[in-house]
Amino acid sequence: MELYNIKHPEERVGFSEAVLRGLGRDGGLFFPCHWPRFDDVDALLAMPLVERSIEIAHRLLSAVFSREQCAAIVADTLNFPIPLKSIGASLSALELFHGPTLAFKDVGARFMARVLIALRQHQGNDRPVTILSATSGDTGAAVAHAFYGVPGITVCILFPQGRIAPLQEKMFTTLGGNIHTLAVEGDFDACQALVKEAFSDPELVASCGLNSANSINISRLLAQCFYYFEAVAQAPRRDGLVLSVPSGNIGNLTAGLMAQRLGLPIKAFIAATNSNDTVPRYLATGIWRVNPTVATLSNAMDVSAPNNWPRIEALFAREAKSPDTELRSVSFDEAATVAAMRDLQAQGYIAEPHGAIAYAGLRSALREGEQGIFLCTAHPAKFRDSVEAILERPIPLPPALAAVANKTGLQNSMACDSSQLSAYLRAL
Ligand SMILES: *Cc1c(COP(=O)(O)O)cnc(C)c1O
Repeated sequence: MELYNIKHPEERVGFSEAVLRGLGRDGGLFFPCHWPRFDDVDALLAMPLVERSIEIAHRLLSAVFSREQCAAIVADTLNFPIPLKSIGASLSALELFHGPTLAFKDVGARFMARVLIALRQHQGNDRPVTILSATSGDTGAAVAHAFYGVPGITVCILFPQGRIAPLQEKMFTTLGGNIHTLAVEGDFDACQALVKEAFSDPELVASCGLNSANSINISRLLAQCFYYFEAVAQAPRRDGLVLSVPSGNIGNLTAGLMAQRLGLPIKAFIAATNSNDTVPRYLATGIWRVNPTVATLSNAMDVSAPNNWPRIEALFAREAKSPDTELRSVSFDEAATVAAMRDLQAQGYIAEPHGAIAYAGLRSALREGEQGIFLCTAHPAKFRDSVEAILERPIPLPPALAAVANKTGLQNSMACDSSQLSAYLRAL
């Protein structure tokens, strides 16, 4: 697979380089030069999740990995179920939260970790790699678990001290081993700025082998295509399918549009956002205006400058189509989020705020005769405080969360200071 830099189309790289570098020149996103359309989608849909995903991975990555390698990477990534639960006559929920950190980010992070490990083996590379990531919650846990215990790879996760839900924090601070966590005196933006500064120091990048493993990495999007196939495979009908995606940085939606282009019979997508509504406003008015980010109940989607959007623009531009042909987008404020959670509860389904916003997207944008699937991106217990308060019922902790609840966090504290961070990284 060859990829180009969307900002500088003349810059072309292979899949390995795109994964290892993350971003191209000037921070441009990589995107495949050619994207196949499978002509045997029905046969693929008849296969079980893991087998089908191995087949898709091999078709996309056969230039880099053997079938055996694809099989090992995919089987290890998808070691949890992705059920589709029927809610009503024409509605179902795709549950993407049965992985080790109870959020859909497990799929992309686990795949990327295994791809990186395989690429290192290929290159006979025994230089150290340090994964450096800032997190406001779900990414840190998914990345930490994905790389936990991998020889030769050290992970350093920065998070804003005291600003992450305690259980969410414990999911990555209690691991130890090769997972190092730093509670930074500052907010998430301060953490991200520290990470950016570290990556702008070429000497530090080279000596520590820094890699960000963040959600703009193309390998994560490939893995996310697997569950769109699974959604369609389990759907009660395959005509008029509309998928509603709770969207922040828009990676999940980008993967959906890519999966659709592989040949999936999906009629349209709904990009459902919270009050950070840059995309729905843009689709309605044609004007891209980034407002200050506001904090909401669905905090993993508190993003006002979604950094995957250029990929969606590129994808539609290549087809000489406007995004609004297959993309509907709606935003929901806090009251609408709460109403959607209560509405689902009345139908016997418990969703946390992100999944509830995807459901609200179907309620407002599904048309006559269509079949809706909304993506549930996190387990309700991950957002236990707000879910219990809004639905006035206890939410039991699943084993993954119960296991960490009473453990001690192993994080170090650090001032928001880039020289302290580089000294820390060099000493790992
Ligand atoms: C990250 C996240 C999202 C947003 O996904 P994007 O790919 O950034 O649009 C939605 N829900 C949850 C629970 C998340 O952690």
